[in-house]
Amino acid sequence: MTALPPHTPIKVFDGHNDLLCKLWMRGDKGAQAFLNPSAPNSPSITSQNAKEGGLKAGLFAVFVPNEVALKNTRKSAQKDATEGATLAALDMIDIAHNLDCAHRDKFRICRTIDEIDRAVAEQTLACILHLEGAEPINSSLDHLALFYDQGVRSIGPLWSRPNDFGEGVPLAFPGSPDQGGGLSDAGKALVAGCDEMGIMLDVSHLNEAGFWDMARLSSQPLTATHSNAYALCRSPRNLTDQQLAAIKQSGGMVGACFASAYLREDGQRNPDTEIDLILRHLDYLISHLGEAHVGLGSDFDGAVLPKTLNDCTGLPHLIAAMHDYGFGANLINQLCYGNWHKRMTTLLD
Ligand code: ZN
Repeated sequence: MTALPPHTPIKVFDGHNDLLCKLWMRGDKGAQAFLNPSAPNSPSITSQNAKEGGLKAGLFAVFVPNEVALKNTRKSAQKDATEGATLAALDMIDIAHNLDCAHRDKFRICRTIDEIDRAVAEQTLACILHLEGAEPINSSLDHLALFYDQGVRSIGPLWSRPNDFGEGVPLAFPGSPDQGGGLSDAGKALVAGCDEMGIMLDVSHLNEAGFWDMARLSSQPLTATHSNAYALCRSPRNLTDQQLAAIKQSGGMVGACFASAYLREDGQRNPDTEIDLILRHLDYLISHLGEAHVGLGSDFDGAVLPKTLNDCTGLPHLIAAMHDYGFGANLINQLCYGNWHKRMTTLLD
């Protein structure tokens, strides 16, 4: 493992984690596992290890697991499935609101860039709520305003499964991102609704047809919260050079994901994965997008990560590896914090 060089700690603004889903699955409504770092099987993000690792702000995903989202596939049962997903998502958001109310010194839901800056200045973890898969919003978009009111400022219309809004990209490795059709009419309406309300749209987990629909329809810079380069890892979850060119053209950005399945040439979910692979993906993304358009999208609490990055106390090791790789201090600050901060300033000013 790389020795940590003596330099000022780097702040991290992360594009993606699944802490809220993990707490919800455990029935941990009071987020005790986040608050109490000695709890058994602590999540990767706890209040204590976020402080230790320098994690200051991030997009916190609200992800409804398959058993709820796909509970019923028959047409007549679709209403129930939407309602189940809506309730599950609201439950997860409640966990965040409970933390925000009872422990504002440790966790805060932020809706504006000023709120993010204040939280970071006051050493409390800044959370921007993100819906990963729009199942909780029904196809007539009745619940879009509800989730906005709850603080959601970012939505990935699809996870890797079909829903009312499109098809989503399968996960099977190796595979092309170009599988299946594009956004449905409801998906196109959702894009328009998010553009109008100032909700960021996430292209991670979209298949290519959905991605190109988004590129054509949305007025926003194309943003992938947690994806890597397809040229280095042939997972359908990763972005091709053509997709990266479109993201660059739109002025968008990509958060490099630490999930081993999207890093490794063999696509394995394997904790014995060198964090240098993250550097290779970052380097590749920078060469295609430019230094101002690449960030981090950890997938903490949502995937198998390299064991050095098993939780956010590993972040300083990644930063040390960036130094060793030859990234300068300014670039490291941009990758770890500045670029996501700038994207959120554009969105939430
Ligand atoms: Zn994901």
